[in-house]
Amino acid sequence: MRVMGHSRARLVAMALGGVALLLIVVLPVDSPLWVAVSLGAGLVAVGVFFAAAVRLPARARAVWWLLWAYLALTVAGNVVYDVMEYHFGIDPFPSWADALYLAAYVPQIVALLLLMRQRQRIWDRQAWIDSAIITLAAVSVAATFVLLPMLSRTTPADLSTYLALSYPLLDLAVLAILIRLTVGGGRPTMALVLLTASVAVTLLADLIYNGLAATGSAAEAPGWLEVLFTGGLLLLAAASTDPGAASIGRPSPVEPSIMSTPRTIFLGVGALTAPVLLAVGTRDAATPEVFFLAMAAIAVNILVIWRILLLLSTVQRQADTLAALARTDSLTGLPNRRSWNFELMRAAAAASASGGPLTIAVADIDHFKEYNDRHGHLAGDAMLEECARQWRAELPPSIFLARYGGEEFSVILPSEHAAAAGAMLERMRLATPPPVTVSIGYATCDALVPAAMAVDRADRALYAAKSAGRDRVICASDEVDVMRRGES
Ligand code: GH3
Ligand code: MG
Ligand code: MG
Repeated sequence: MRVMGHSRARLVAMALGGVALLLIVVLPVDSPLWVAVSLGAGLVAVGVFFAAAVRLPARARAVWWLLWAYLALTVAGNVVYDVMEYHFGIDPFPSWADALYLAAYVPQIVALLLLMRQRQRIWDRQAWIDSAIITLAAVSVAATFVLLPMLSRTTPADLSTYLALSYPLLDLAVLAILIRLTVGGGRPTMALVLLTASVAVTLLADLIYNGLAATGSAAEAPGWLEVLFTGGLLLLAAASTDPGAASIGRPSPVEPSIMSTPRTIFLGVGALTAPVLLAVGTRDAATPEVFFLAMAAIAVNILVIWRILLLLSTVQRQADTLAALARTDSLTGLPNRRSWNFELMRAAAAASASGGPLTIAVADIDHFKEYNDRHGHLAGDAMLEECARQWRAELPPSIFLARYGGEEFSVILPSEHAAAAGAMLERMRLATPPPVTVSIGYATCDALVPAAMAVDRADRALYAAKSAGRDRVICASDEVDVMRRGES
C-alpha cells in the first residue's frame, strides 16, 4: 500500500514538474509569476529530494546527501540571485549567489566520484582513456566558443572574468567525471540515467549561458534556457525518488569486451573534433599551411579510425573462432564436455521455465579397449568419428549430442521428445557402426528431479545396461528391475 502511495505521489510530482516547465516556457520571461514558478520548482525539488533521501537505506545515503547538498546550494544561489535582481534591482553578478553556486560544485563532484568508486573499478585504464578523448573534444569546443572569447573580451581580465571562467572550467571537470562514469560501464539503472541526464542538461544550459555571456548577451538569455536549468534540478529530484535510487552504487560486473563499433565511432568523432575546429577556424585565414595541416589531421584521423574498425573485426572473428574451438571436440567435431556442461544448465533452466521434462542420456561404447587392442588406436579414433557421424545423422537437430570424453557420449533430448525418448535412443543404438555396440542409460529431469540428479541416474542406468550384457538402452526407472533380473 505504501509503495502504491509512494509511486502515485511520484507521478503527481512529475506531472507538477512538467507543468512548471511548461509555465516557464509560456509565461513572459522575467515576469513575477515566471520568477516565482522557476524558483518554486527548485524549492519543491529540494523538498522532494529531502523526503526521498531520508527514506534511503544507510549504504546508499552518502551519494544522495551529497547530491542533495548540491541541489540545495544551487537553489539557495538561485534565491539570492533572483532576490537581488528582481527585488533589489542590483546586478547579481558577481555576488553571494556565485559563492553558493561555486560551493555547490564540491558536493556534486564528490558525489559523482564516490558513485564511480562504488560502481566501477577506479583504475580502469580503458575507461579513463575513452573519457579523456571525449572530454578533450568537449574542452576544444568549450575553449573555442566560450573560454577563449571570454578571456579576450576584457583585457586585462578582471576578477569577474575569472569568476565567470571558473563556471565552464568546473563544468568541464564535472563533464569529465560524468563521461568517465558513463563509459566505465555497468548496468545503467533508471536512477543513474536520470542523474546523468540531470547533470548533462545542467552542463548544456551552463555552456549555452556562458557562451551568451562570452558574447556579452547573457542578459537576453532566452526563456527556454531557464527550462534547461530548472529541468536539470527536477531531473535530479526525479532521480532521488526513483525506486532504483537505493541501489545506484551497486557494483555491476562489467564484462571485459572488445571495443564496440559504436564506441569506436564515438571516439572517432572525439578525435576529429579538434582538427575540424581548427580547419573551420583557419579556412579563410592568411595561413593556408595551418588549414592544410588541419585537413591532413582530419584525413589521418579518419584513416586511423577505419584501421581500428578493421582491426576490431579481425579480432572479433578470431575471438569467435577461438570460442567455437573451445566448445568443439577436435576428433569428432561434436560439442565437447565444456559445451555439454553449459548446454545442460541452459536446457535445464529452459525446461524448468516451461515446465517441460528433459531427457538426459549417457552412452558408452562397449568393449572399446578390446577394439583398440585389436585394430590399433588410429582405427579406434576413426571408429569414434564414424559413431559420432552416424548418431548425429540419426538424431534430429534439436537433440544435443556431445562427446563427454573418451568413448563416452552424452545426449540431451528436449521435452518434445519426452514420450519417444526411449525409441529415439534405440535408433541411436541401432545406428552404431558394426562391429562396435553401445550401451545407453537415460533419465528424466523435471520439477522433482534436478539435472545433476538425472545425470547421476542416467549413469547408473548405463551401468545397469553394461551389467545386463551391453548393447542396450535402459531407462533409469527400469534400472532396478534390470539389476534384479541380472542378479537372479
Ligand atoms: P565397457 O564396455 O565396459 O565400456 O568396456 P571398455 O573397454 O569400453 O571400457 P572403458 O570404458 O574402461 O575403456 C575405454 C577405452 O576407450 C579405453 C581407451 O583405450 C579407449 N579410448 C578412450 N578414448 C579414446 C580415443 O580418443 N581414441 C581411441 N582410439 N580410444 C579411446
Ligand atoms: Mg568408458
Ligand atoms: Mg566403454
